[in-house]
Amino acid sequence: EPDEPSGYTPLGREDDQVLRPQRMEDMVGQREVYERLMIAVDAARIRQETLGHILLDGPPGLGKTTFATCIPRALDVPLQIASGAALSAPKDLLPYLTNAQEGSVLFIDEIHRLPKAVEEFMYPAMEDFRIDITLGEGVSARTVNMALRPFTIIGATTRSGLLSAPLRDRFQVREHLDFYSHEELTEITRRNARKLRVEIDDEAALKIAICSRGTPRITNNRLRWVRDYATTKAAGKITLPVAEAALGMLGVDPLGLDPQDRKYMETILRVFHGGPAGVEAIAHTLNLAVDTLTDEVEPFLLRSELVVRTPRGRKLTAKGYEHLGVSPDAVING
Ligand code: ADP
Repeated sequence: EPDEPSGYTPLGREDDQVLRPQRMEDMVGQREVYERLMIAVDAARIRQETLGHILLDGPPGLGKTTFATCIPRALDVPLQIASGAALSAPKDLLPYLTNAQEGSVLFIDEIHRLPKAVEEFMYPAMEDFRIDITLGEGVSARTVNMALRPFTIIGATTRSGLLSAPLRDRFQVREHLDFYSHEELTEITRRNARKLRVEIDDEAALKIAICSRGTPRITNNRLRWVRDYATTKAAGKITLPVAEAALGMLGVDPLGLDPQDRKYMETILRVFHGGPAGVEAIAHTLNLAVDTLTDEVEPFLLRSELVVRTPRGRKLTAKGYEHLGVSPDAVING
């Protein structure tokens, strides 16, 4: 069981645990990342050494936490879990560092949110497995240097660009997780339907995959919803018409975009005449946090080439206009 001094529970609902792959071999997709991580893990195991620190970045829901939980299992070492957002001072990080068993893993989610002071406190811990701690206060304060047991930090971030270079450089392995293909998400849908004990057609599994914005977490959410729909309206079996009707009720369109995605695109179209529009202005109009837009909404739309980022702001592409069913000329000519 992970040790959670701060009461932080990043692994989500108990429900989520049912669908989360438990072992590296159960991970679908991300083949290149998977192979490189496996080599690092196997080498550490064969040489009986502590695994180097690993940084995983990429949009939410692509498997950073899942990799971080499977790696210690592959090494048969304990895992501690912390969140950058909850570590506001070095003293918050201290118990994790002193609790760390030799060779164990400390997973720090949202590592870009660590305050500077905590980050700097971590540097010697990562580099030499030592920390400086201050004892006492005022004139009687003194600093002692304390040795830690060698351990591994796995950091996860939605935006590695926000990490300072000194922190980024202290990770021996840095991997970027990208969106999943329809084939990979179809496979995840099929496997998870089995885990949820619901029957599903191949075409229905593909439909759910296409409607998942390239993201396994969304696949799981859509699958659960379609399953509920099938239970109440279709005697429990997920066929293509059942999947289409259920996803239609969520307002998911043929590209898998949800109402929030379309509202974002329509805001650029109607309020900003197709763009370019600054992200703050768009966020303000939508009444959303800028971080929510840049971390959760935009990556998939940029990746799908519906929107582009220019030095002057976000713009709809020709494909974006087409998806909204309007012609770019109509907007330009008023
Ligand atoms: P992140 O930490 O990047 O936000 P998670 O690791 O929490 O994402 O992944 C969200 C969910 O998606 C997991 O609970 C798991 O069920 C599913 N998932 C993620 N990656 C994979 C994968 N490679 N294969 C199968 N399921 C996955």
